[in-house]
Amino acid sequence: MRIGIGYDIHPLKAGRKLILGGVEIPFEKGLLGHSDADALFHAIGDALLGALGAGDMGDHFPDTDPRFQGQSSSFFLQEILKKVKKAGYVVHHLDSNVILEKPKLGPYKEEMVANISKLLKVSRDRVNVKAKRNEGLGSLGRGEGIAAQAVVLLRPK
Ligand code: MG
Repeated sequence: MRIGIGYDIHPLKAGRKLILGGVEIPFEKGLLGHSDADALFHAIGDALLGALGAGDMGDHFPDTDPRFQGQSSSFFLQEILKKVKKAGYVVHHLDSNVILEKPKLGPYKEEMVANISKLLKVSRDRVNVKAKRNEGLGSLGRGEGIAAQAVVLLRPK
């Protein structure tokens, strides 16, 4: 078995779409970044690369590369899953946190789990997404951005 941890954070800005776990969430602001800035998918990508011992998302998809401008983050996960497969592993379990003050993620978590499970070819009962408020503390608590954490366990195929 191999385990990996991932973390990501993006600032919230007016005039951007809010996309988390591949779900477009109606909100007055969205995450700012070179790609679609899906912090949850990026944390999952880093966790997968970590489990492979293959560096980080920045090594594989640099934000200076125009090919990744506005790119859907599902593309990154699909590319990383190819590496997982090539190394002879499958995803065994994935847990994650999304840390944000607003909006409420409850109504969208199931769709996020469905997206992750489909992209990573793992059953839904082995994927978990948790939403946490930062209780008003710090920049996340002031609603200036959204962070995500993920832990992934891989097992040999
Ligand atoms: Mg990112």
